[in-house]
Amino acid sequence: MSAIPFVNLKRQIDSIRGEIDAAIAGVIDSNAFINGPQVAAFENDFISAQGGFFGHGCANGTAALHLALELAGVGPGDEVIVPAHSFVATAEAVIHAGATPVFADIRPSDYTLDPDRLSPGPRTRAIMPVHIYGTAADVDGIRAVTDTYHLTLIEDAAQAHLATLDRRGLGTIGDFGCFSFYPGKNLGAFGDAGFVMTRDEDQAKRLRMLLDHGRISKYEHTQVGYNYRLDTLQAAILSAKLPHLAEWTRQRRTLATHYDGRLKQAGFKTIEPMKGANPCYHLYVVETSNRDEVMKHLSAKGVGHGVHYPVPLHLQPCFKELGYRKGDLPVTERISQRVLSLPMCGSTTLDEAEKAVEAFLEVAKP
Ligand SMILES: *Cc1c(COP(=O)(O)O)cnc(C)c1O
Repeated sequence: MSAIPFVNLKRQIDSIRGEIDAAIAGVIDSNAFINGPQVAAFENDFISAQGGFFGHGCANGTAALHLALELAGVGPGDEVIVPAHSFVATAEAVIHAGATPVFADIRPSDYTLDPDRLSPGPRTRAIMPVHIYGTAADVDGIRAVTDTYHLTLIEDAAQAHLATLDRRGLGTIGDFGCFSFYPGKNLGAFGDAGFVMTRDEDQAKRLRMLLDHGRISKYEHTQVGYNYRLDTLQAAILSAKLPHLAEWTRQRRTLATHYDGRLKQAGFKTIEPMKGANPCYHLYVVETSNRDEVMKHLSAKGVGHGVHYPVPLHLQPCFKELGYRKGDLPVTERISQRVLSLPMCGSTTLDEAEKAVEAFLEVAKP
């Protein structure tokens, strides 16, 4: 059996290589490596594609979260509620802002923050749901909580390009939405890149300032900011890829439908999106009780796979000082032992997905 990669970036890039080469050459010829016109062009195109209002590109997804937290006024002494079932950056950004992450549990259906388990305290300033795997968290349910307690709602949409909830683009519903264009994300740069969306034009202006040294002109700095700019080269590459994202997302959804059919029939639990959610399947995740054995088998058969994420954030050594213990977040902890990600990207073929799921079903137990 030939090897089936977990993500086939090479195939995707090869298919549009001419367009990417032209975009890169354009930046080299213009010599505008910082704040070149390609940055604003990409910003406009990405805002339309996601159905947002205002926003700017930035250095990476972690910087996007950090910027949104600062714009929300989150700082020392504040707490931000985040899920523990996520990539480390979600909680790391809260620390960067000088605040403390408070971990909450997820719901077993779609692995997103459970609105019924949120209990804001006097120090809570924001809630940051993650649209994990590209599946919508219950933003409206969480909005009801942030409205009641006057908190900021920041969507970690790092995995949610073109995903929607009731036809609204994820990352465009809360006060802020943060995206990552890490190479392996659904829309990936050739390096690091990210984006902050906001519904508020004034916040977008502050965002632009904050990510570029707090400057209002070349040598006038009204506040201490960051060097969190999106490179012109990355913007040009992202613009070359963006017109293909809808087609790649359709392919991801086709693969997910195929996986769903095969796995549900065999009694496996997969992602169950809430009503109205149209995921973009950054990852396709299935639960299995004998994961180690399944991974060995998949490796032997050359089927790429991964675990997202094996160690919940509240049990990561880097957050040890926050004082969480095993047993604090039972759903998150159980899921982290059971989830397995199957091959999934815009250039994975249906035939590859079928071979992967066949190999999975040979040994996996629900
Ligand atoms: C990728 C990711 C980030 C961080 O993005 P970078 O661009 O790698 O900094 C944050 N949150 C989630 C959920 C992610 O998947």
